[in-house]
Amino acid sequence: MASPIFVSACLLGLPVRWDGKAVSGDYASILTKFVSRGGRIVSLCPECSGGLPTPRPPCEIQAGDGSDVLSGKARVISIKGTDQTLAYLQGAREALALCLQNQVKVAVLKSFSPACGNGKIYDGFFRGTKKDGIGVTASLLSQSGIRVFDEEHTLEAVALALKESSGESCGCGRE
Ligand code: SF4
Repeated sequence: MASPIFVSACLLGLPVRWDGKAVSGDYASILTKFVSRGGRIVSLCPECSGGLPTPRPPCEIQAGDGSDVLSGKARVISIKGTDQTLAYLQGAREALALCLQNQVKVAVLKSFSPACGNGKIYDGFFRGTKKDGIGVTASLLSQSGIRVFDEEHTLEAVALALKESSGESCGCGRE
């Protein structure tokens, strides 16, 4: 049996976003299809697991990205000016621990988030502008050898990565 994929909790339709809402879009039903074909999922919300409440003030990474946060060069700051870096580090560690417990090799994370973003994140000025970069959890998982995708990738691309990592059927029904 292939190892499970790790998925950001908000992509499963759970109302854990900073505004207390679920992610709009159809990714939850795509993942339901993945599970119906034998795929397995483990999930948490790194921001919630780091101890932040829902709803909560939105946060962005200032002066860097998640890799810089991990190395102590950048901070995660809320729109109210509160330094939430420790919560983001804790959430990332919780996500990695769950992945290691379950031999996760592939993750699908929510784009643009200071925790889960992969490739583009908000620029730290709360003006809706994005910059190149990766979230704190995405960075820690990636540094730990887990292939990180976001919901913009097709499930087939995720399934192929899973198959490459395990050499086994992934449950997508395409192989
Ligand atoms: Fe979704 Fe990740 Fe933000 Fe939690 S931290 S709401 S899982 S994007």
